[in-house]
This record gives sequence, structure tokens and C-alpha cells, in this order.
Amino acid sequence: MRRVTIFGATGSIGQNTIDLIARDPDGFEVVALTGGRNVAKLAEDAIRLNAEVAVTAFDDALPELRERLAGSGIEAAGGTGAILEAADRPADWIMSGIVGAAGLEPGLRAMAQGTTLALANKESLVCAGALVLDTAKTHAATLLPVDSEHSAVFQALVGEDMSAVERVIVTASGGSFRDWPEEKLARATLAEASNHPNWAMGQRITIDSASLFNKAMELIEAREFFGLRPDQIEAVIHPESLIHALVGFRDGALMAHIGPPDMRHAIGYALNWPDRRALPVHRLNLVEIGQLTFRDPNEDRHPALRLAREVMEAGGLTGAAFCAAKDRALDGFIAGEIGFLEMAAVVETVLDRIAPQLPREMTLDTVRGTIAEAHRLADTVIGDRVAAE
Ligand code: NDP
Ligand code: MG
Repeated sequence: MRRVTIFGATGSIGQNTIDLIARDPDGFEVVALTGGRNVAKLAEDAIRLNAEVAVTAFDDALPELRERLAGSGIEAAGGTGAILEAADRPADWIMSGIVGAAGLEPGLRAMAQGTTLALANKESLVCAGALVLDTAKTHAATLLPVDSEHSAVFQALVGEDMSAVERVIVTASGGSFRDWPEEKLARATLAEASNHPNWAMGQRITIDSASLFNKAMELIEAREFFGLRPDQIEAVIHPESLIHALVGFRDGALMAHIGPPDMRHAIGYALNWPDRRALPVHRLNLVEIGQLTFRDPNEDRHPALRLAREVMEAGGLTGAAFCAAKDRALDGFIAGEIGFLEMAAVVETVLDRIAPQLPREMTLDTVRGTIAEAHRLADTVIGDRVAAE
């Protein structure tokens, strides 16, 4: 029996993870499930999987969680401190599936027990790549990528020497607006941006896919995870979302990872690693697919990609500022305060303003401070834009 904990159990990644674990009840013992506002789902899954503890990130949701778990024998806890305590409970495998920078500290804390951390939370590497990798090294924790592109690269690298890698190509579906004329983008609505053509995911990452901010985050994530130079990392638009990434070697060979757009693939790979076990995913019929197409990602149309390149070049805490500014800009778009194209403008302004004041050293404190300052700056920039309307 392997002991597993799932952070963000009520989300899209968490539910896909639970789907795989629930298929093998004799294989896994569930230690902790954590969620946020969706207490009904959290309690239901905790009971179904007989978890030791269920934790909501929000104190005010704890009474309802307690009530729903009453008589089940499952512990209930609430608040960010309780999430960190859940990370201390011994587990063999932990899914980092919280959305946003809130996923960083639980992941760091989990790695401190020297466990295997399956990292879906891309914000961890974007905000604090060096800190995450150092923590893994210090505690001999195993870090496995779950983002589909990074899992694809990881799989293409099995048995290979990093020194033979020339480049990594990450594919992007192009999101909801890939076929829209550029002049229409400024008027894109929340409902339109929340509808992904190929993948079923949480709302925030779906909107980030439409703006290509998700891809921007993934380029930075790839740089950190695989220790690549910025000029070794490329993005290409691939509307079918079947090739997830390619690794180019110094002999000119390109190794592509192809699979259906189903996150259970990447999650299952991380769950079974280093083995490959059967997964309940659709098998591709190449003749039915017929063709795979690729388009230039065009950095003028997608300023998020240009900003990602600048962040990769700058390194250090710039990633934390980028991620935090992007999160606030996304909040602003979701709240109807700024338009779709304004998100990139807000992030760019925040990066310009914060650059001269970024600390050089990366510690948990400087990451937290940078995130807070980028939030403050982004709120000011968004406020100024709203006032100017
Ligand atoms: P969702 O929005 O579907 O789920 C997010 C999870 O985090 C939920 O369990 C949510 O709880 C919980 N949560 C929200 N806020 C907090 C908080 N402040 N503290 C603790 N927990 C919180 O997101 P996804 O599953 O789509 O994404 C999770 C992560 O995985 C993100 O970093 C995303 O970029 C990454 N990822 C996702 C992919 C996907 O297919 N969805 C693909 C690749 C990467 P509740 O819902 O109960 O409020
Ligand atoms: Mg991805």
C-alpha cells in the first residue's frame, strides 16, 4: 500500500488524481485530501477514499466540513496552517494540485519529508524555481512533473544525457481564440475565454491558455525544471493538442510525446514512475487523426510569450513578480475590471516597475515579499486603468 496525499483534491488535477487512485483501492492508502471552498466534494471524497484527514484552506469553511464528516472518523481541519501540517504527515507520494502561488509552501513543506512530489502547480517553479529545486536536493525528495508538456519532456529524456539536448519545444493549443482575428481579441468576454477547445481544466488555467499566459508560465517552468538556457526553449502552436512537447538532440533527432489530451496520462505517469502501468486513457488512431498541424506562435499577437522570454533572461525573483502580476491581472479580467488584452499590459507595467527593487537572494521570505509587492503594484495599475475609463 502506498500512502498518498492530494493537495487541491477538489480541483481538476485533484479529481483526475482521485479517479486513478480510486480504481486501485488495494494499492493506495489516502493520508490527506485538501481543498478550498468546495467542502461538499472534499467531504464526499474523503469518506469515499477513507482519508485520515480532510483540510479546507479556509477557516470559515471548517464548521461545514466538520459537520459533513461527523461520525465518519475522519479528521477535519481548516486554514493554511492546517494545510502545511497535512504536508508533514508521512506519505510516499504527494500531488501538488493547488492553483496559484498558494501551492508553493505546501509543496516545499512536503518535500522536507523527503517524499515524492508530483508537481502540477506550475506557479511553484515559476515563482521560486531555485528554492524548489534546492529544497528537493537538500531533503532528497523526488520531484516529478505533471504539467503535460513537462511530463512529455521528462518522458522523452528517459535514458538520455542532458548534455545531448539542443532544444525543447513546448506545444500550445492556442486556446479559445486561436482562430480569432487580432482586432476582436480586445472585446473577448470571460465566458468566451473560459471555454478551452481541447482540454477540460480549471477556469484560471483555461483563461491563461487563451491569453497564452499558461504557455508563458510553462516556458519558465521548463527552464527551471530542466535547467535549460532560455534560447533552448521554444513554443509552437499545435491546435490538435496531441503532441505535448518535443526534445531536440544534438544529432538533429526530435523525440515527440504524443497522447490524447487527458491529464490522467501525465498524472498516471508520475503516480507509477519509474514504471509504466496501464492507464484508462483513449488510444489514438493515427489514421483517424490524419494530420498534425503547427503554427508560428507570433509574439506580437501573444505578448505573454515575449514577457516569458524576458523573465527567463532576468531569472531570480522576476518569475515570482511575473506570476503574481499575472494572477492579479487575471483576477481583474474575471471581475470585469480590465479587458482581455489589458492583462499583458498590466503584467508588463508591473515587471518594469518592480525590476529595480527586486532582492537578489531567493528565500521563502523574499519570494513572499516579491509576490506581495507585485500584487500591490498590479492592483494600483488596474485601479489606474479603471479610473481612466
Ligand atoms: P482548479 O481551480 O480546478 O483547482 C484548484 C484547487 O486548489 C482546488 O482544490 C481548490 O479548492 C484549491 N484551492 C483554491 N485556492 C486555494 C488556496 N488559496 N489554498 C489552498 N487550496 C486552494 O485548478 P486546476 O486543477 O486546473 O489546477 C491546479 C494546478 O495545476 C494549477 O497550478 C494549474 O496551473 C496546474 N495544471 C492544471 C492542469 C489541468 O488540467 N487542470 C494541467 C497542468 C497544470 P476549491 O475548488 O475547493 O475551492
Ligand atoms: Mg500544460
